Amino acid sequence: MARNGITNMQAKLVLVGDMGTGKTSIVLRFVKGQYFDCQESTIGAAFFSQTISLNEVTIKFDIWDTAGQERYHSLAPMYYRGAAAAIVVYDISSDDSFTRAKKWVEELQRQGNPYMVMALVANKADLETNRKVLAEEGEQYAEENDMFFIETSAKTSQNVNELFYEIAKRLSKTR
Ligand code: GDP
Ligand code: MG
Repeated sequence: MARNGITNMQAKLVLVGDMGTGKTSIVLRFVKGQYFDCQESTIGAAFFSQTISLNEVTIKFDIWDTAGQERYHSLAPMYYRGAAAAIVVYDISSDDSFTRAKKWVEELQRQGNPYMVMALVANKADLETNRKVLAEEGEQYAEENDMFFIETSAKTSQNVNELFYEIAKRLSKTR
């Protein structure tokens, strides 16, 4: 605890989910406030840093985004190591991506730390007319797996900040 009463935390946060679900877009929306209609899947190999301030806690997120390795449906153990939080992303217009998201959750449960804060994110909520996965399905799976559920759109920015604030809030409580 610092003298001003503010606690400073640092947390590694990883993103998983199939290629094309919008992981990089969510991060770019959150960190830079930008959105690109055509994201090169290999762009954004990377690492971003962003700080969130809650009432008495400041959390510096070290955000790990994939560089397209998710194509092979698994990621190196190093990717998960030390992660305090994880975001599992699927695309509401793709049944397949939801099925795959469940596999990613299982992989996280095997690799990750048991206290990890996990979010199930139903992205591309703006594609309502093409919806294949009901919100209730995501919600129910999240509940069964101790995750919180949120529908986002990196395109319109719907719920993107809320997603990261909710993670920050939960991290500040589990400290
Ligand atoms: P990643 O492979 O999971 O990192 O996915 P990307 O962020 O590269 O996004 C894949 C494609 O989906 C790109 O063409 C994005 O512009 C698009 N995309 C990402 N988020 C959204 C969204 O919320 N809504 C819509 N309609 N398209 C999105
Ligand atoms: Mg990407």
